[in-house]
Amino acid sequence: MSEGRGLRDLRGFIFDMDGVIYRGNLVLPGAPGFVKQLRRVGVPYLFLTNNSTTPAGQVAERLVGMGIEATAHDVITSAEATAAVLAAEMPGGRALVVGEAGIREALVDAGLTLTDDHRDADVVVVGMDRQCTYARLRAAALAIRRGAQFVATNPDRSFPAEEGLVPGAGALVGAVEIATDVPARVIGKPALEIFRYALRRLGTAPAQTAVVGDRPETDVQGGQRAGLRTIAVLTGVGTAEEFAAWQPPPDWVFGDLVGLYRAYFGIGAKAARGADFPGCQAGWKACPTCHSYHNAYFDGG
Ligand SMILES: [Mg+2]
Repeated sequence: MSEGRGLRDLRGFIFDMDGVIYRGNLVLPGAPGFVKQLRRVGVPYLFLTNNSTTPAGQVAERLVGMGIEATAHDVITSAEATAAVLAAEMPGGRALVVGEAGIREALVDAGLTLTDDHRDADVVVVGMDRQCTYARLRAAALAIRRGAQFVATNPDRSFPAEEGLVPGAGALVGAVEIATDVPARVIGKPALEIFRYALRRLGTAPAQTAVVGDRPETDVQGGQRAGLRTIAVLTGVGTAEEFAAWQPPPDWVFGDLVGLYRAYFGIGAKAARGADFPGCQAGWKACPTCHSYHNAYFDGG
């Protein structure tokens, strides 16, 4: 792990969201303050999500509701990145979709045409689809066997629900792969494509841009593949031990975004407290979720 000047040389940030900016409905420590300060000093940033079902505008509204400054232009979803990649490669192409409104709208907005006929499809796009039927998987498989391209918005096999882990987009992608013996081309994290798309939007050099994430196998690995610097935070899935064991390890590891805020802007902990944590309804000391992270951090410093 390196410290100091290399970190302060960064000129752009790509944020994973769940486990970095928020967890459930709770905004995580330091997120509003760090984003606000980036905007204030003119450092560009983006929020990146593998979620393909929710349009970018709704993601931005949710962030604003948590006290994070964001517009639809600040958010990249895997659906939007998929649509942009396909629009560049096959303008006006016909897409057969296994997916929800977020994917369909993104493809149409990018100029592609939707089709339900497997004989008519240039590309099959598979993402999360909570109304997926056998007939839809059948059409997808027939189109791919006929020669249509096979693209996946994201590879996430499962995601957490109240009752436990439930099937994600990757489970449907897997069903079509098994039915066709054709591997999907993946756009979302940890694939290169979504990071390349994000870099084009930011307009920054990879070596001066960092991905900030909580998962070694998606955020860190994907960022490293794309030639980005990588910053891990411990407010989500990955533990300090997992990040330390990851090869090569992330460039920096912070307990939370308060730590990153302090190191990047060189501002003390007291300045980063208080008003910068509006999502912590009870104040950080009394908030049972925030408390554990902050205690560990501030006790050490
Ligand atoms: Mg995450």
